[in-house]
Amino acid sequence: MVRRIVVVGGGVIGTSVAWHLARADAGEIVLVERHQLGAGTTWHSAGNILWNPIDMHDLPILYMLDEVIPAVTEESGQETGWLETGRLCLARTRATLDVLAVQAEEGMRRGFVSRMLEPSDIPAYNPLIDPTPLIGAWLNGKVGRLNPADLTAAYARAARRRGVTTLEERPATGLAMQGVTVCGVETPQGTIPADLVVVCGGMWSRRFLEPLGIALGQWGCEHFYAIARTDPALPRETPSFISPDDSIYGREEVGGLLFGAFDEDAITLEDGAPPDDFAFSLLSENWDKFGPYAERAAELFPCLKTAPIHRFVNGPEAFSIDGKPLMGPVTGIEGLLVASAFNSAGVSYSGLAGQMMADLATGASPRFDPAPYDPDRFDERTHDPHWMRSTVSGTPSSKYRDANV
Ligand SMILES: Cc1cc2nc3c(=O)[nH]c(=O)nc-3n(C[C@H](O)[C@H](O)[C@H](O)COP(=O)(O)OP(=O)(O)OC[C@H]3O[C@@H](n4cnc5c(N)ncnc54)[C@H](O)[C@@H]3O)c2cc1C
Repeated sequence: MVRRIVVVGGGVIGTSVAWHLARADAGEIVLVERHQLGAGTTWHSAGNILWNPIDMHDLPILYMLDEVIPAVTEESGQETGWLETGRLCLARTRATLDVLAVQAEEGMRRGFVSRMLEPSDIPAYNPLIDPTPLIGAWLNGKVGRLNPADLTAAYARAARRRGVTTLEERPATGLAMQGVTVCGVETPQGTIPADLVVVCGGMWSRRFLEPLGIALGQWGCEHFYAIARTDPALPRETPSFISPDDSIYGREEVGGLLFGAFDEDAITLEDGAPPDDFAFSLLSENWDKFGPYAERAAELFPCLKTAPIHRFVNGPEAFSIDGKPLMGPVTGIEGLLVASAFNSAGVSYSGLAGQMMADLATGASPRFDPAPYDPDRFDERTHDPHWMRSTVSGTPSSKYRDANV
């Protein structure tokens, strides 16, 4: 009998999951999206994808770069805007430089473009950088960016070509249950029968599963970047940058400079996620919170002291307690998989999420070890909103601990 699978949520994760399920011949697949594809967090993502040799990045990112992007582009006929730019990983401190040097060596060993730079070499790669506060950098060539909306469209189109039904403006209002087994997805237009449901609801996954007594270890946090008009304008191929000692990152955007921060004590959302009607939306500008990071960015890019800000993006995103996504089955409920809380790396991990869900759905031998992502890895405190908020507030900046970014 053909298995009926419903994917809830049409962001970059849900569309990748749908495409991977179809490629794996997992069954008859329906994707339901409350608004339009990409309307949640995906549309305002910066779209950076970076390889580095730490466990969480290494194989999943190589899979994304070397297999997923070429395959989905070819199958869908939809370009993703992929542009390999490389990245300058900047160091102000010896501790950071030492970590980067180890990563650079591994990059070289793999045959990637990878070299350590002296401060005086850095402006050749980005003329807006003043290297005075820096003691060196790693030029990591295995990094680039794409347009997240185009990648989402490519996944969706390739999935449809393989027979997936995509229903937009179709909210999932609940799960139909037979005892502890999921048997369908409820929508205002009726229940869609299902043998398996994969919840890819981004920030809203926790709210969606709460009626089953499940408290996913994720919470929505505000996340900021700004885009400045710079003089001179930057070429598109300019390497992106990251400064772990400042908790800031950035890249060229339409000739200007996009720069963002993973702040300490990130602002958590009141109810864990924005209201359900939050589509293609942003939260308010918050210069009080972003200001200190903008000042640090201006030490590295002096032009930011006077450059006009063209756009400020306060886009919320789901973060987990330990900075790793939640992917896999949930104990006690049959017929349910979760792929959620991508900690500001969901575009990069969309290939990983899709492949992992397809392997779990079909029982294939897993290409990637699901154990570190087990949604049940946290304790009962996930049920306590106060504890969740105070804990997850520290997750965004933890990305920069040990310069493993
Ligand atoms: C400012 C910013 C910059 C970022 N930069 C990068 C980057 O450079 N590189 C990178 O890899 N990642 C980046 N990210 C992270 C990345 O954008 C996210 O991790 C990713 O978009 C999450 O995708 P998702 O599909 O899980 O969630 P979403 O895109 O939010 O998709 C979830 C979808 O589910 C739908 N939905 C929810 N509940 C229901 C329901 N009950 N019924 C039907 N539909 C439902 C929503 O409408 C939504 O469309 C960034 C994020 C932010 C905020």
